[in-house]
Amino acid sequence: MQAEQRKDPHINFIIQKFEENEGQPAWDIVALKSETVKALWAQWPRLSIRDGLLKRRFETPDGHSVHWQIVWPELLRTEFLEIAHSGKTGGHFGRRRLALVVQFRAYWPSWSSDVDSFIKQCEPCARYHRSAISRRGGLCPTVVGEPWDRVSIDITGPQQAGTDEAPSASDTMQNGADDDTVSGRCLSSRQRRPSQRFNDYEC
Ligand SMILES: [Zn+2]
Repeated sequence: MQAEQRKDPHINFIIQKFEENEGQPAWDIVALKSETVKALWAQWPRLSIRDGLLKRRFETPDGHSVHWQIVWPELLRTEFLEIAHSGKTGGHFGRRRLALVVQFRAYWPSWSSDVDSFIKQCEPCARYHRSAISRRGGLCPTVVGEPWDRVSIDITGPQQAGTDEAPSASDTMQNGADDDTVSGRCLSSRQRRPSQRFNDYEC
C-alpha cells in the first residue's frame, strides 16, 4: 500500500509535505492543485503518517470510537469497493453497511458519493432490487340491494377505426356474480388512469 500511495500524485503530494516537516503548507501552494489535494489539505490536523502510510483520524459522532483510515489511492478504489460490497460471500451489502465497511478501513474525499454511484451501478443489485411497493387501498366490498343500485361508468374505445371513445356503463348488481367486480380493488385517485375516472373499481 505504501507504494500505491506514492503512485497516486495527489496523495504523494501530501506525503511529501509531511516529510518536509514544515506543517500545513500555505494555501497558495495548494491553490492550483486537485480537489483531492485541497480536501486533504483542509483536513491537515486529522492526517498523519502512521506505519509508513498516510492516514486520517476518524472519530464517531459520539466520540466513543477513534481509528485511523488509510487514505486510499484512486486506482484501487473501485477494486476496494467491489471487495467491500460483494465480500467473499457475495453479500452485496446495501449502502449503509458498505459505508460502514469503507469508513472502517479507508478514506478519500469523494468516498460517500463514490459509494452511492457504485451501488447504483452494481448489476446484480440493480437486477434484484425491488422498489417499495406502492400503497393501495384495501378491498372494499360493494353492497347493493337490487339491480341498478350502483352503476359503474368507464370510457372505452375507440371501438373501431375512426370512432371516438364512448362511455360504457355496467350494473354492479348484475356483474356481482363475478367476484372480481364485487370485491374489486379500490384505486386512489392518484392511481386511477383517466379512463377509470368514472369507475370505482379496477376489476
Ligand atoms: Zn451489488
